[in-house]
Amino acid sequence: MSLLMRITLIASFLGTIYGCTSLTTPSSPQPVTGPKDKPTPEPVNTAPFDLMLCDGERVSNVQTSLDSRVERNSALACLQDVKFMVAPAPGACITSGFGPRFGTTHKGLDFQGPGRSAVMVVAAAAGTVVINKWRDDLGHWIVLDHGNGIYTGYGHLQDAPKQAVNSTVNAEEPLAMMGATGKAARGKLHLHVEFAKGMLKQAEHGGYFNLDRFDPLVLPEDC
Ligand SMILES: [Zn+2]
Repeated sequence: MSLLMRITLIASFLGTIYGCTSLTTPSSPQPVTGPKDKPTPEPVNTAPFDLMLCDGERVSNVQTSLDSRVERNSALACLQDVKFMVAPAPGACITSGFGPRFGTTHKGLDFQGPGRSAVMVVAAAAGTVVINKWRDDLGHWIVLDHGNGIYTGYGHLQDAPKQAVNSTVNAEEPLAMMGATGKAARGKLHLHVEFAKGMLKQAEHGGYFNLDRFDPLVLPEDC
């Protein structure tokens, strides 16, 4: 958990990023290239705490500073003394941030796998399963309670995670493969992950109430 990455997201004013690669420290593991039959012009790094940009992929909603750049020190974030991954799909890159999109508000982050393949989605931090159900919009959907009023939710998963409600999960524990279940845009394989705070109510009915979703990319790395 001490692996600290210095990561810089660079976005244009239009939120479009072309030809970007993962931004990692020199101590990162050797890059792994994608399958030979897939167009993967840039090497992909699979270190667990990278926050990576997608080659040639549009990234919407990333927070921009005055010089149209977004800077982060780490792909970890902390809120209310809970430290968690902001990219809980190792090897995947970010495709959409938190904020206004298509006339509504995108209340989470989207990630896609290298070469648009699926990768494993993992728990952003240790916690307890509070919801594991099918949703028409988010497909296979699981919500974890990390304590101190912090929750993460993972949608469009390929299969229902094996972890039952009320079971505990470790940080980085595999949940399910990234999928396109529910109303995934254009059937695109991706992870929609939500970060929320508050007091969850009526979880026994599969509801997801009384929580406020927040943007983890604007949070500090350390508690
Ligand atoms: Zn999304």
